[in-house]
Amino acid sequence: MKLKQYFTKAWTGGISLIKGLSVTFSYFINPKKIITEQYPENRKTLKMTPRFRGQVIMPHDEQGEHKCTACSMCERACPNGSISILATKNIASKRVLGQFIYRYDQCTLCNLCIEACPFDAIEMGPGFENAVYDRSELIMVLNKKEGR
Ligand code: SF4
Ligand code: SF4
Repeated sequence: MKLKQYFTKAWTGGISLIKGLSVTFSYFINPKKIITEQYPENRKTLKMTPRFRGQVIMPHDEQGEHKCTACSMCERACPNGSISILATKNIASKRVLGQFIYRYDQCTLCNLCIEACPFDAIEMGPGFENAVYDRSELIMVLNKKEGR
């Protein structure tokens, strides 16, 4: 290798090293810039981004009730049959939700059911730790009394 080539390579290598170390040093003096999550150590404080699609959930309103009217729009919108709406009738013979069955084991998290719901009764929740030994544990009833 010619002497000129040797010094050129040594120079560009040195510049590259300084660039890399400057990034490391900037994170060292300003740790708030670090976006790497220390999972699972930060499990208690970990917050997923608002648009994260973990699983379909059915939140309660201010009165502790679900907004679902058992209209079945989400069931029809779901492309792979992950939702079953089991409707029933209340004391006034009005159609109401009996059970909202959600098959998380086959859900593709496509969000179509959320978009189809005219009452904003379901949304994508942030949960993601759902490893189970038995797939049947991923078949859930989403409508529950608040606190259960
Ligand atoms: S997210 Fe998609 S696949 Fe999952 S239940 Fe909703 S529509 Fe079905
Ligand atoms: S979740 Fe929404 S779309 Fe699905 S049955 Fe209830 S109200 Fe209808």
